[in-house]
Amino acid sequence: MKILGNRAFRWALLMIGLFAIIALTTMNVLSLYDLRNSMVEGEEERRVDQLDEINDSIRNQIIDPLRGISSIELETIESSIQHSGQLPENINEVLTRSSASPFFTDIYFSPDGTDPCVEGTEIYRYDPENNQIVATKEYPKLVCDGAGIARTKTKIQLNDFNYRWNNNFEFDTHRSLNLGLINLNENSLIGILTLILDEDYIINEVFPPYLNNYFGDSSETGVVVWIRDWADDSILATNDSTVAYDNDIIDHRMRFSGSGFFDNWSLNLAFLESPVSNAYNATLVKNLFVLGFAMLFLTGSLIFMFVTAQRERQLAQTQANFLANVTHELKTPLAVMQAAGENISDGRVTEPKRLKQYGDHIYNESIRLKGMIEKLLDVARVDSGQNLTKAAPYRIHELMKSYLEENRQYIERKGFEVKFSSGDEEAFIEVDKDNIETILSNLTENAIKYSKDEKYIEYQISSNDKHVYLSISDHGVGIPKREQKNIFKKFYRVENSDTTSSKVKGHGLGLSIVKNMIELNGGTIDVKSNPGQGTTFIVRFPKLNRESGPSNTSLDNDDQVSDNDNLKEHTENV
Ligand code: ADP
Repeated sequence: MKILGNRAFRWALLMIGLFAIIALTTMNVLSLYDLRNSMVEGEEERRVDQLDEINDSIRNQIIDPLRGISSIELETIESSIQHSGQLPENINEVLTRSSASPFFTDIYFSPDGTDPCVEGTEIYRYDPENNQIVATKEYPKLVCDGAGIARTKTKIQLNDFNYRWNNNFEFDTHRSLNLGLINLNENSLIGILTLILDEDYIINEVFPPYLNNYFGDSSETGVVVWIRDWADDSILATNDSTVAYDNDIIDHRMRFSGSGFFDNWSLNLAFLESPVSNAYNATLVKNLFVLGFAMLFLTGSLIFMFVTAQRERQLAQTQANFLANVTHELKTPLAVMQAAGENISDGRVTEPKRLKQYGDHIYNESIRLKGMIEKLLDVARVDSGQNLTKAAPYRIHELMKSYLEENRQYIERKGFEVKFSSGDEEAFIEVDKDNIETILSNLTENAIKYSKDEKYIEYQISSNDKHVYLSISDHGVGIPKREQKNIFKKFYRVENSDTTSSKVKGHGLGLSIVKNMIELNGGTIDVKSNPGQGTTFIVRFPKLNRESGPSNTSLDNDDQVSDNDNLKEHTENV
């Protein structure tokens, strides 16, 4: 318990708590960012992988009918051509399959030594209806025009068999597939199979469904893909024709890979404002907001708890001091009275002069005791809410006058010059007369207590349309600015001045009682003060007029409105 009460320990706990909140929040924010990045990156990688999938899938579809070619024996091809002028049966099967594929329009066979691109050269065309090759001198010019850029010499093995594609043969990449049939034993070329690709079919029938299935509507997926002939600088297909192709917005670019065909076609991918990343961003913002709010809330609560605990500790301390003070203050006059009374009752004091002196002591101390008890009762009443006001309309000038009539002598006896000026003798307020007396006497007591050489108190009354002002000024020690907001708090006393509790008696209750009572009567209190120059307390009450004032209050006091005419006269002035 002792350690918990330790101030340094509490501060340490507060700091650890704040540090923990900040550290946890930072960690959370960082991990949220990590999560977002990995999710967005993951999504982007997935899209790039899809380009590979499309590439492989189309390539496989094209090559598919040719796969069986691996089981063909070279000798058979050569002898078959020599003897019957036809390709062997097993090659014909492959060609039948190939010619059924929508990817190919025609299939040609050029034996070694013939160049189909030289006019008039006789080669063979595969006729699928009769399942045989037919001699022809017609060869598609397209394949020979040299426009294809990939005059490459690519060597690809199919199914680990040593027939090679395009070996030692110049070809046009996206217009034909060329299969060089090579006799590896003799290292000689037998002939070349040329399968003419149906470019229109690939561009119009193959690409669009792929792009749509994988990348769909770019406003939903946030991805646009263009298949582009970069040699021609033309777009062959896209999933969103509303977005113009632009080199600068491309995030990922790849060529159709493998086999050497489609070499001048590329796949280009751009990430627009992706709904996925938008959604992640929105979640991130939401999470950050909640996190920020939670952090603020936690920090606020922690600080609130800390401040409350500090305040309670201070309050407990102040109340303990107050109790000690009160006990002391009550005991002192009692002790004086007891001693004086004892001396008289014992008959030790008989001399009339001394008897009077003892009597005076008892009288003065009992007055002090009474004042003290009244103040405590005021606090108790205000605290318990029992201070019910018995409000009635009064002329404030009269209230002030009657207070001074009763107390002027007492104040002057203390050496004070009293001044009273009234700017409005007719202003009415609706208050509890006893409360006003308590308020005035507390403020007067303070002016007396906190004045030094210049003993002067001035009471002033003024008013405007709505309010009546009562000010009490002294030329005393004054109150530092930073303390002024605290002086109305219960038990609060200004420390570190030359009028602190050690020098001037008090319990820090007077102004708290004053403020509470003024508020109970519908008013407010303000203070204006400069250290060393003096203090003015300004009390403000609502001005009473005919409409708001009770017209028929039972009147039992001189100062109270004596008749309706009086009130009428006052309100007319207003
Ligand atoms: P107390 O006078 O018993 O200490 P109060 O509640 O009446 O308690 O006043 C609170 C504090 O405000 C005082 O301790 C004093 O420092 C300061 N104070 C009040 N009235 C005056 C005044 N007229 N001049 C200077 N200081 C004042």
